[in-house]
Amino acid sequence: MSNDTGARSDATEENVDDRLTHDRWAAALEAGEPLGLRCGECGYVTATPKAACVRCGSRDVATVSLPTTGTVYTKSTIEVAPGAQGSGYQIALVDLGDARMLGRIADGQRVDIDDTVELADSYEYDGDLVGVFEPRQ
Ligand SMILES: [Zn+2]
Repeated sequence: MSNDTGARSDATEENVDDRLTHDRWAAALEAGEPLGLRCGECGYVTATPKAACVRCGSRDVATVSLPTTGTVYTKSTIEVAPGAQGSGYQIALVDLGDARMLGRIADGQRVDIDDTVELADSYEYDGDLVGVFEPRQ
């Protein structure tokens, strides 16, 4: 009886441990080791923590490591930003393996679509964390 309870408790802990919380995701990104989620139903991969697959709604999602090098899918230049975020910097949607991550391009750097970029840092503004990418020569 007590053994059964122990086993259930362990299983629950394992599930909780594998769940990608925002804190775990942010800590990994800050450490330069981006994490994402892969859906067990449809295979869709996201670069941000979600409770369920954004494509099919399945809760069968598993934490996966994402590569730190990717390709610029699209980009935009922020000419005027609110607060003290600077101005004239680029943001980019970066293909990281099977996932797509919105990031900021390092100050003073410029990228174009299809450029190869590498995760170099992270940037926090108003509680939101984004990856900072640099062009790779
Ligand atoms: Zn799915």
